[in-house]
Amino acid sequence: MNPSNFLKIKNKIPSNVNILAVSKGFKSQEIKIIQNIGHNDFGESKFQEAYEKQLILKDFKQIKWHFIGRIQSNKIRKIVQNFKYIHSVDSFEKLQKISNIACEENKNPFIMLQVKLSDDRNKGGFNPELLKLKWTEIRELKNITLSGLMTINPRGLSPNENFELFKKCRSLADSLQLPDCSMGMSGDWQEAIDAGSTWLRLGSLIFGNRT
Ligand SMILES: *Cc1c(COP(=O)(O)O)cnc(C)c1O
Repeated sequence: MNPSNFLKIKNKIPSNVNILAVSKGFKSQEIKIIQNIGHNDFGESKFQEAYEKQLILKDFKQIKWHFIGRIQSNKIRKIVQNFKYIHSVDSFEKLQKISNIACEENKNPFIMLQVKLSDDRNKGGFNPELLKLKWTEIRELKNITLSGLMTINPRGLSPNENFELFKKCRSLADSLQLPDCSMGMSGDWQEAIDAGSTWLRLGSLIFGNRT
């Protein structure tokens, strides 16, 4: 892990687009190297793995932890306690539970709602129509800051197909007046920027291949 690699990537990305360094599969030492050059947003997708690193890095108070993985209902309290951002809220029931627990814990996490924009049986997410139907109810939930939508494109799409799906996510976010779109990974970040991403979730591009 070479920090100059990170800076090279950062230089290619417009300054209004945030980079989330996805550190799943990498050790706290590698997070420290990136943190040391001034980067503070890190994404993890498994609670237990993340929590072990959070304990090691507890004195690095500037780090903002983002949860980006599939949310198990029985982990919601721990996720709310330990993450400032949650990108992967994929159902109304989980959102409600996050809100209730955030009230009890006196937290107010930034939330991105994961949307499902194509038939991908491996991915969860809100159906866009359902999201619109539930929107009034969603907006009334306490102790959550709804900041945007998140999407993961299926593998193997052409650049143009990726762009079109990301564009759908951007339009939906705009129609709900949500500022953020968490979209674009190591293989499709350019199309995501072109479509209006505000958070790129970059893992292997920054840290190298996961073993
Ligand atoms: C692993 C992961 C990423 C990063 O993937 P790369 O292809 O390594 O950039 C982004 N988002 C989610 C939800 C992930 O699980």
